[in-house]
Amino acid sequence: MNVQAADGAGETRVLVVEDDRGIAESLVRGLRQAGYVAEGVRNGRDALAAHTPDVVLLDLGLPDIDGVEVCRMLRARSDAAIIAVTARGEEADRVVALDEGADDYLVKPFGLAELLARIRAVLRRRRPAGPEIVRHGPLALDLRTRQVSVDGRPVSLTPKEFAVLECLTADPGRVMSRQQILERAWDAHWYGPTKVLDVHVAALRRKLGVPGLIETVYGHGFRLGALQEPREHP
Ligand code: CA
Repeated sequence: MNVQAADGAGETRVLVVEDDRGIAESLVRGLRQAGYVAEGVRNGRDALAAHTPDVVLLDLGLPDIDGVEVCRMLRARSDAAIIAVTARGEEADRVVALDEGADDYLVKPFGLAELLARIRAVLRRRRPAGPEIVRHGPLALDLRTRQVSVDGRPVSLTPKEFAVLECLTADPGRVMSRQQILERAWDAHWYGPTKVLDVHVAALRRKLGVPGLIETVYGHGFRLGALQEPREHP
């Protein structure tokens, strides 16, 4: 899959706090390819000394200072969005990190696409200006109140349906794979059947009632259709 520059990523600084050199380097490389200004540090001390990043990707298993403590100290001194990273099974750490001010978390191993989606999501939630409303054709999503409307008509969605729609609107036009949607809308990792997704997409289509809004890309996943531009010949 091509890694495309995220909209508005150019000025966004991401600090990768990760003591595993291989993981850190590949994350920094991937983030830079996606258009972020990314930098890696290997321990909590350097993380706390870093220049005001916009987003901190914080591995909780660090060699010097406990990651949760780093999270607490970062939160006390900065408005940066913090995404905590833990190994599988460290659920207690994730919960404590969220309590200590982390905005989101990721469980290792995770893919770059998921990381980029989480970064976009935390940035969107933190963006202070105005109501956080995403529009696509007749569709409007209020990300703060989680209300949805079509042509101004309110549509009542379940939390899962909203999560699927939010995932698709995060990058309109881009195909989101089934796995990406499941990972974001259900849990960090979904090993069950992907049929559950089709059920929710069908419900979304029925409730939204906009033909062509959610396109199926056979063999890949789903994307939001280009409703307003004239359709090009395939
Ligand atoms: Ca570690």
